[in-house]
Amino acid sequence: SLARSLARSLEIEKQLETDPGRFRMLTGDRPTGHLHLGHYFGSLRNRVALQDKGVDTFVLIADYQVITDRDSVDSIQERVYSLLTDYLSIGLDPARTTIFAHSAVPALNQLMLPFLSLVTDSELRRNPTVKAEQDATGGRPMSGLMLTYPVHQAADILFCKANVVPVGKDQLPHLEQTRVVARRFDERYGRAGDQAAPVFPQPDALLSEVPNLLGTDGTKMSKSRGNTVELRMSADETAKVLKKAVTDSDRRITYDPANRPEVSNLVLLASLTTGRDPHQIAEEIGDGGSGTLKKLVTESVNDYLAPVRARRIELEADPAELRRVLAEGNARANEVAEATLGEVREAMQMVYG
Ligand code: ATP
Ligand code: MG
Repeated sequence: SLARSLARSLEIEKQLETDPGRFRMLTGDRPTGHLHLGHYFGSLRNRVALQDKGVDTFVLIADYQVITDRDSVDSIQERVYSLLTDYLSIGLDPARTTIFAHSAVPALNQLMLPFLSLVTDSELRRNPTVKAEQDATGGRPMSGLMLTYPVHQAADILFCKANVVPVGKDQLPHLEQTRVVARRFDERYGRAGDQAAPVFPQPDALLSEVPNLLGTDGTKMSKSRGNTVELRMSADETAKVLKKAVTDSDRRITYDPANRPEVSNLVLLASLTTGRDPHQIAEEIGDGGSGTLKKLVTESVNDYLAPVRARRIELEADPAELRRVLAEGNARANEVAEATLGEVREAMQMVYG
């Protein structure tokens, strides 16, 4: 099934080149910390590329999903606006991309009710990603929201009838759950006399090209691990963080991800931020050792992020504009969600008065 998802993802990529107008994309993030280079090269960069190609793009700030695995919504507003600022600074354009918050779109959340009736408790319990996320909480009892978050994600994707969803491999089970919900909804409530036009599409995954950027400790770059280069860091902070990055004792620099993950990850970062071939970068450093490599990576990361950071500072200076952008995105998402909920109610014959 992974092989099939990969093949399908490649097909979608081709179609995105030739016919971008056919696609609506949805992605999102939980506002639980600052975006980092893993997010950027794993996902954000591609969102901007799709937006720029003319794909209708929706980006969700998943504030309700913050409370799947924690009690506190501490400084949630600040986090939401920080995420929005990150989005705008990397090039998401609110004129072309609908950026909105979960909690601001009641009709989206209302889709949870019929959708929950289409899944079983055992289906949810065997979802490997739910299990992994639950394990990561370190013994917290599973909340109902955690158990059902693949269904919430189905509502996120289907409220706007997105047909393409950029994801990492770990998210494939959720996308499969979404496809199941879409299919079952139409099996159960398919529009009378119009079976040819289902209410919901069957969305496809678009798999990430850089699914596993490592952090400075050599494990996956993750905000909860404290091993990140954040987009919003200053050039000096970036230098400090990268200086501490784990390498190995071999002085000669090579690009060999399978055998030398830490060193190769730094070479990869230099490659991603310069557009140059990683083998060539490694060759040029040669016996220069990890000191030379880190210096080069720091420079290329800082050069690459300089315009993003400058834009971030400008945006931070105008909170009223940020509020306006989010209000506009929320309004657009509400329109779309209400239209879809209307269709759902009609299919279920729950239209009164
Ligand atoms: P947490 O520590 O809370 O898990 P995180 O920093 O790992 O946070 P997520 O919210 O888990 O971030 O990631 C959101 C999405 O960003 C992922 O589905 C994936 O597409 C992308 N992503 C995150 N980290 C990386 C990474 N290190 N490499 C590539 N892509 C990443
Ligand atoms: Mg993670």
